[in-house]
Amino acid sequence: MATRKTSYTYYCLHCHRSYRAKSSRSQYCSGACRAKASRAAHGAIVDDQAAASERRNATKSAQRFERVCSQCGEPFTANGKQGKRLYCGDKCKKRAYLAAHRTEKELR
Ligand SMILES: [Zn+2]
Ligand SMILES: [Zn+2]
Repeated sequence: MATRKTSYTYYCLHCHRSYRAKSSRSQYCSGACRAKASRAAHGAIVDDQAAASERRNATKSAQRFERVCSQCGEPFTANGKQGKRLYCGDKCKKRAYLAAHRTEKELR
């Protein structure tokens, strides 16, 4: 018997399109369909993983804040950890700090 590698035509269990594959074990036309099908089958687990990574991506972008420096008025970008940053840099932070203290002294 000749062991020639032939490809077979299958119908994707997920999108029902025909596709050619070399493995008779293949059930889906693509990794995407396999993932979608297994997500549907094992709902929670796969969904959680996908949702978790989507959430991670979402938080990543949501964690970028466009802010305006309270001291010099220059716009700057702060990430999640610096979300409460008021100043574009240490210089402005110091300047603001000094200004605040100067005001305090003047008030006294
Ligand atoms: Zn498919
Ligand atoms: Zn500034």
